Amino acid sequence: MAIADQFDAIVVGAGLSGAVMAERLATERQMRVWVIDNRSHIGGNVHDGMDPHGIMVHTYGPHLFHTDNEAVWNYLSRFTEWIPYQHRVLAYFDGTYTPIPFNFDSIRKHFPDAEALIHLLKQQYAQREKVPILELMQSEQPRLRELAQFVYEKIFLQYTSKQWGVRPEEISPEVTGRVPVLLGEHDGYFTDRYQAIPSQGYAAMVGKMLANPLISVTLDQSAGDLITLGEDHAIWVDGEKYSKPVIYTGMIDELFAYSHGELPYRSLKFESEHHAVPRYQPSAVVNYTASEAFTRITEFKQITSQQASGTTIFKEYPGEYSRSSTDFNIPYYPKFTEQAQAKYEAYKAQAKGYANLHLCGRLATYRYLDMDDAVANALELFDTHFPPKRQEAEP
Ligand code: UDP
Repeated sequence: MAIADQFDAIVVGAGLSGAVMAERLATERQMRVWVIDNRSHIGGNVHDGMDPHGIMVHTYGPHLFHTDNEAVWNYLSRFTEWIPYQHRVLAYFDGTYTPIPFNFDSIRKHFPDAEALIHLLKQQYAQREKVPILELMQSEQPRLRELAQFVYEKIFLQYTSKQWGVRPEEISPEVTGRVPVLLGEHDGYFTDRYQAIPSQGYAAMVGKMLANPLISVTLDQSAGDLITLGEDHAIWVDGEKYSKPVIYTGMIDELFAYSHGELPYRSLKFESEHHAVPRYQPSAVVNYTASEAFTRITEFKQITSQQASGTTIFKEYPGEYSRSSTDFNIPYYPKFTEQAQAKYEAYKAQAKGYANLHLCGRLATYRYLDMDDAVANALELFDTHFPPKRQEAEP
């Protein structure tokens, strides 16, 4: 049977964005959806599972769900129960652990005249909850510039050059702005209203989203081997013209066979270690902001609240993404250079030529999306492009 007769839509990618789209199309529009993914598991980068020691780990690094978006929270809550989890991060430098984002307590830890500095901060940034570090560096107050310089050197400079391979001022303020100086005692990494971890894990949550019998999932299936974008502005699937919706959540440069060149990404490599101790470090994540080749160490038990006598940690090493690399062959973070943005725009324009092609998610839209934004964007795509069929007017 022709693929178009079997499926009303194809979703490329079984990550969070793809799962939302497949679930919405099947549940709300009763469409038969074919989800394909080139990996051997669902969930994309939010995938998790037990390691050989029976410790629940996040395969592609720590994923901490946080959102202020009630619609996203309510939507995901249909597929999972939650374990409340407030993320806290310590930075390790100069032989001590300091809460980050840098808050009033962090200032007290490192500055003998902390109270005067705090007073000045409150005065200069009244009504504000946080200040991006690059903004603080521009302050007219020399003592605040000194504070900013300290935070810049101890927290940002080396971490950012490990993470991105460049200096902080060379990357988008959107990225460094994610970790500001907090104007208060609050020591949480996020300030969102909802902060939690799916109680059975992310893979179980995505599994539930894809459990609708109208959804068929094929793993280990590369889209490139199946889907061709024709010069005739038609999408061809397994040699047949496919005019129904194709939702693509993979890398956009790959979809167009790199016709405008490769889009740059940073990638990550994780080294797992199991230790026969109940607890390895003082917080779930410790950032190594001024030493070591890795950026951070995650201890998963502190995120999932799992009870076990031993503990598993991941050391996280960033590197430049390359298709041919053995360590860094998974794209994680888009790199926001002007050149990369221009390339992306060229791909986006090319994609517009295909009326039934929909781009969705972090890789296809080339954006640094948190999980809640990925879900929100997918829900929006569904609402705008897949409205309910209008009832035939009564004769
Ligand atoms: N950052 C830093 N030091 C830190 C934490 C973050 O310099 O200890 C910078 C770094 O450039 C990083 C960015 O802030 O890429 C955003 O950090 P976030 O924790 O949001 O990164 P993610 O968890 O998404 O990798």
